[in-house]
Amino acid sequence: MNLVPETVALAPELVRWRHHLHAHPETAFEERATAAFVAERLASFGLEVHTGLAGTGVVGVLRVGSSGDAIGLRADLDALHIHEKSGLPHASKHEGRMHACGHDGHTTMLLGAAQVLAQRKRIDGTVHFIFQPAEENEGGGRVMVEEGLFDRFPMRAVYGLHNWPSRPAGTFALRAGPLMGAFDIFEIVATGKGAHAAMAYEGRDPMLFASHAIGALQTIVSRNLHPLDAGVVSVTQVHAGDTWNVIPGEVVLRGTVRSFTREVQDTIERRMRTIVDGIAATFEMTATLRYERRYPATVNSEAETRHALAAAAAVVGRDSVDTDPQPNMASEDFAFMLQAKPGCYVWMGTQRGPDTPTLHNPRFDFNDDMLAVGASYWVTLAEQQLAARAR
Ligand SMILES: [Zn+2]
Ligand SMILES: [Zn+2]
Repeated sequence: MNLVPETVALAPELVRWRHHLHAHPETAFEERATAAFVAERLASFGLEVHTGLAGTGVVGVLRVGSSGDAIGLRADLDALHIHEKSGLPHASKHEGRMHACGHDGHTTMLLGAAQVLAQRKRIDGTVHFIFQPAEENEGGGRVMVEEGLFDRFPMRAVYGLHNWPSRPAGTFALRAGPLMGAFDIFEIVATGKGAHAAMAYEGRDPMLFASHAIGALQTIVSRNLHPLDAGVVSVTQVHAGDTWNVIPGEVVLRGTVRSFTREVQDTIERRMRTIVDGIAATFEMTATLRYERRYPATVNSEAETRHALAAAAAVVGRDSVDTDPQPNMASEDFAFMLQAKPGCYVWMGTQRGPDTPTLHNPRFDFNDDMLAVGASYWVTLAEQQLAARAR
């Protein structure tokens, strides 16, 4: 391990910041106190601070030297609607809200990096420290991009990081291409004709639609996708009926689709429409499909993945960087930034032992031993990318 010494010296302070943030979690677009905490510290390091982007987003700008080169480093501010059960002294003081995804750690590490980079001044260029709201479900990253993040703060590349408690502490994992999946949702409403259950011939039973559709939708992945392409179709809700002897007039199915490529996503949506229309026609009823593409796949670009690898390897050693991790079908709204700019999103291993709680678990707590590691990664990446070159 080759940590940046200033991050090690700062570690006790980082732990205090992280525990403060953990105890005061705020959810999507309501991260006002968190944003104020971040803005205050960035200003105290001498950075130019911009607030209000996507509501509670914050961007800190560090300019050193005369180069016009710039990169962005991104962390997320938001917590989840979870009742914390960690029992820790710094457990959430906000009932029903919790930093169960480690965004408190992400925010702290990026703040630490900002302080150290500002102190060392070993770059020639600009670093944009991006603190985005609402990573969970609400697409705060998308809103920042739509509100002109990359126009207001021009940069050639953007980098993201997520703690990964199922991977060993002190390791990194990254790959070029997709690392996290695209996340779509759907709702199918089939409308038949209600009837007395004993006289089913007088109605058109939408329960039949549901039973056939759930099975048929599972054939998309098994029969329509190339066996080496990945996709998931999950029906997660079925709503219909109120009592024993009445055939309901309507059934509602809802669920989620995951994929890594646009081609697979298009194929799944197209086949879903055919199946829904076909089964509705078979049973002489109508059905509608509402298909909504929420988060795109998180796709790393080639050159920036090499840059991220160089930084991670400099900190934890090349042998501790997995360059071929199996991608994960969960999704990440950093994907919207990667659609607009080349960049790389990495997983930083934070496992404590075999019983480390997973992300979104009510007992989850960010691994404080990794704060200096993550901050060192950011400092190293920025100093490598914006190295003061001899002319
Ligand atoms: Zn999460
Ligand atoms: Zn997260």
